[in-house]
Amino acid sequence: MQCAYLFGPRDLRFVEREPLALRPEDVRVEVACSGICGTDLHVFSGMVFGRAATEPVALGHEFAGRVVEIGSAVTTLAVGDRVTAIPNTPCGTCGFCRSGRGYACQNRGGLRSGSWAPSCVIREQNVFRLPDAVSDRIGSLTEPLACAVRAVDRAGLRSGDRVCVVGGGPIGLFVAAVAKASGASAVIVSEPRAYRRDLARALGAALVVDPTSEDLGSLVRDATDGLGADVVFEAVGHPKTIEAAISVAAPGGTVVVVGVTDAAAQLTMPGQELFHRELTIRGTRGPTFAVPRAIRWLATLDFEPIITHAFPVGRAVEAIELGLTGNAGKILLKP
Ligand SMILES: [Zn+2]
Ligand SMILES: [Zn+2]
Repeated sequence: MQCAYLFGPRDLRFVEREPLALRPEDVRVEVACSGICGTDLHVFSGMVFGRAATEPVALGHEFAGRVVEIGSAVTTLAVGDRVTAIPNTPCGTCGFCRSGRGYACQNRGGLRSGSWAPSCVIREQNVFRLPDAVSDRIGSLTEPLACAVRAVDRAGLRSGDRVCVVGGGPIGLFVAAVAKASGASAVIVSEPRAYRRDLARALGAALVVDPTSEDLGSLVRDATDGLGADVVFEAVGHPKTIEAAISVAAPGGTVVVVGVTDAAAQLTMPGQELFHRELTIRGTRGPTFAVPRAIRWLATLDFEPIITHAFPVGRAVEAIELGLTGNAGKILLKP
């Protein structure tokens, strides 16, 4: 079968590969729909994500499909189940996992091949059944939406909080939607691209700001009685946008950094502000523990507006190039 591999920056090729043999704990999923993640765009462009790759990287980790084969030790899934999955789950055996802190596990894994392919192989513990109310198309949003649910968990969002989301790409839009559904009284989205500002409006943002022509700080203060946002999410992954996020937080506020910066990126910030505003700045990484709740949101909220394009998987490079322009929401690939 033809599988997408990244051989180096901007060098994506489809390679003929034999389907992997299953280990006892694995399942094979026939892919119905697979998303392009922000990290796919980053690595395609040459960003080093974690450790530098020494061999071609199989792409695709957000997907929905059907179980077509199960390993001998699989007990919770059957052939024919409609499922989604997350690429990494905690290992279950390290010190973090054994002390109830699987979110900090450094040995995550589970996805053995990429989902920009007719099928992929993944550990049973990474796979989640989809309810009938969630289509394959919507189900393929599970992993990024779960990252957003986890980010809102990390924020400690309280009912009635005023929220600012810096960055209106798919993750920022998911975060805005989940924050609103979780009780934010107003969500302000800052995004330089008009296309994405329109998506943010369609998803119910109370105020949408173009940071290239408007002053985000003063607009956020105007909208929050001069105080700033109780919770700010940064969903870009750039030092300047992280600094902007910190600058618009209210006294006592929380800033959650959702975006992934380049490994070499360094922040500068006014250190005394941590004291004067008693800020909390937190990271969030992946979808740990949020997947079942993300699937419930997929069944109850309308995420169709976020999906703006779908391409045959063979046109993945064209789809990535579109994603890199920013004139798109979530882009899906179909075998
Ligand atoms: Zn992803
Ligand atoms: Zn672990």
